[in-house]
Amino acid sequence: MYAITGNKIFNHPAHDTVIIDGDRIYDVTNLSQLTPNIEVKTFDNAYILPGFWDTHVHVVTTGVMMIYPNLKPATCIDDVLSILSMNLHHEPLIAYGLAPHRLREKRYPTTRELDTVSRTQSIIVIREDLHSCVMNTVARKRLGITSPADVLRGEEFEPIWHKIQSSMGDDIIAQAIKLTCNHAINQGVTTICGLFSNLREYEIYDKLKDDLPIDVIPYVQTIDVESIVKLGLPRIGGCILVDGSISSHTAAMDTPYHDSDTCGVLYFTDDELLQFVRKAAETGLQVAMHAIGERAIRQLLNTYKKVPQHRHRIEHAECITDEQIEQVARHGIVLSMQPAFEGVFHNLYVERLGYSKAMNMNPFRKVFDRNIKVGFGSDSPVTNIDPLFGIKCATHHPNPELSISYDEAILGFTEYPAYACFMETEYGKLAPGYVADITVVDMGMNKILAVIKRGQIVLKQEQPA
Ligand SMILES: [Zn+2]
Ligand SMILES: [Zn+2]
Repeated sequence: MYAITGNKIFNHPAHDTVIIDGDRIYDVTNLSQLTPNIEVKTFDNAYILPGFWDTHVHVVTTGVMMIYPNLKPATCIDDVLSILSMNLHHEPLIAYGLAPHRLREKRYPTTRELDTVSRTQSIIVIREDLHSCVMNTVARKRLGITSPADVLRGEEFEPIWHKIQSSMGDDIIAQAIKLTCNHAINQGVTTICGLFSNLREYEIYDKLKDDLPIDVIPYVQTIDVESIVKLGLPRIGGCILVDGSISSHTAAMDTPYHDSDTCGVLYFTDDELLQFVRKAAETGLQVAMHAIGERAIRQLLNTYKKVPQHRHRIEHAECITDEQIEQVARHGIVLSMQPAFEGVFHNLYVERLGYSKAMNMNPFRKVFDRNIKVGFGSDSPVTNIDPLFGIKCATHHPNPELSISYDEAILGFTEYPAYACFMETEYGKLAPGYVADITVVDMGMNKILAVIKRGQIVLKQEQPA
């Protein structure tokens, strides 16, 4: 048994100390009331919070991106090509994080430009939102691409994405999962909802899970209900696409984009979607699916309304309307939103959707006002696993009327994600009997001071003397 003490404890204004016994919280109390035999670890300038969750992490892709080159720092096409040239020891060479809108040329590199890097080795360059890619001629041949377009997006991209993922070795996948979990701890995260692209990724995780430093709540992105039932998992889905993304013009809107004639894409017919969701829900599974545009959110809501309720999740919900928020509240549906999107993509939203629509996206204030349980996350690797940044973004929405308070944002990274996973009686709070998952941050909420997972201190930053 030991205690930690700081300046402030979340949701316990009268206390400063948490007593930990084994892997559980024994009590939340005051330093002055401790019996002298208990060892005390003191943190200065410290705010003690329940361990952060990240409700939406592509657990393998996040780690794979730490193994393969990342194009995020590139500012022009030449930068992209030189990063690729320096990484030809990977075969195939997969590069992530391409952001054409941040490049000076405001476009993707062409197939011909990628050919100048290599004509013998596959090069695949994936946009940061994981919804489109470009590749060199060798890669196009090996993957059997027949499309005349250089940029492959939407329905053309999906099968390629699956092929890329299934071509990775088991060792790379295992290494990637571990890298993601270790990175999460450094960011103050003690539990993630880990999205797995397929059953193979899940099986590799399942063999490793007892050795991982944090809890990974697995969401397997398949529509094969039987296979999930066989595994005994209580949930299915994750980022299964009802529509695409805003940056790739594939999120399904009611009206055309501001900078394109398209209204985006729905990947399921109403019937197909209902068939899958009904089968999963009637089997007792929680369903989680990706829906960004209001047209996709409507299709998914209309489907969820017709099936047994198990806290079904809508991932992202960036363009959710007032009327849809009402329905979400009424049917006990859970939202999984990414505050960092407002911090990172607001300018892109304005470009794609126009100013007035962009100023009404990710309406955190309205969601909290309706008492909807919203789990916050990063959609890593789309944005970094970084709850402190997420909290900043949720409390500083570009439209101040949609900002929420710090306390509310903390709930979105602690208690509500636990609710989203049916784990709220043991996780997400600092209370006696709860699992001792604790994140200690500085009082300004700018940095992580320590992370405690199941009662063990797994991260402790040196504090200046
Ligand atoms: Zn998604
Ligand atoms: Zn996602």
